[in-house]
Amino acid sequence: MIRAIYPGSFDPVTLGHLDIIKRTAAIVDELVVGVLVNKAKNPLFSTDERVSMLNEVMKDIPNAYAEASEGLLVDFAREKQANVIIRGLRMVTDFEYELQIAQTNRMMDPDIETMFMMTSLEYSYLSSNTVREAVAFGADISKFVPAQLVSRINEKRNQCKENL
Ligand code: ADP
Repeated sequence: MIRAIYPGSFDPVTLGHLDIIKRTAAIVDELVVGVLVNKAKNPLFSTDERVSMLNEVMKDIPNAYAEASEGLLVDFAREKQANVIIRGLRMVTDFEYELQIAQTNRMMDPDIETMFMMTSLEYSYLSSNTVREAVAFGADISKFVPAQLVSRINEKRNQCKENL
């Protein structure tokens, strides 16, 4: 039984995240998408909103669901009895940061492996930050986020400028 955790901020979830979610759900038994509360970040969307948007776009993926966690990632993984942490890699600049986190988590719990999914070519440029910037400037975000979330995300336009 492989239960994987895919942690992140998902502020908001993008088509790049959803691509990693679908590809991971196809190869593991269960996927928990973890919205990790990072006190150093001032998110645009509340934790509940981020979890709810994820669950909405994942409703057709029967073995995946989203949940929030305030604690350490390895504690959350243990609580969920997950044996794998999934992270996405977009470009070389992601690598150094991700390697450091993966090694730290391995020191904390050697039984949990971190595995990396390479971004799909069409989403390699895409980050939640790109989406927040696009919203702030009133740009079309339909190529960046799942269709059913476009209007909900655009509604945050005024607040967006304060959060950039
Ligand atoms: P972001 O970096 O977009 O603000 P998160 O902190 O929520 O997003 O990222 C969660 C995980 O998803 C990280 O491992 C990140 O590298 C990965 N990820 C984010 N966007 C993409 C993408 N377009 N393709 C592949 N992986 C991605």
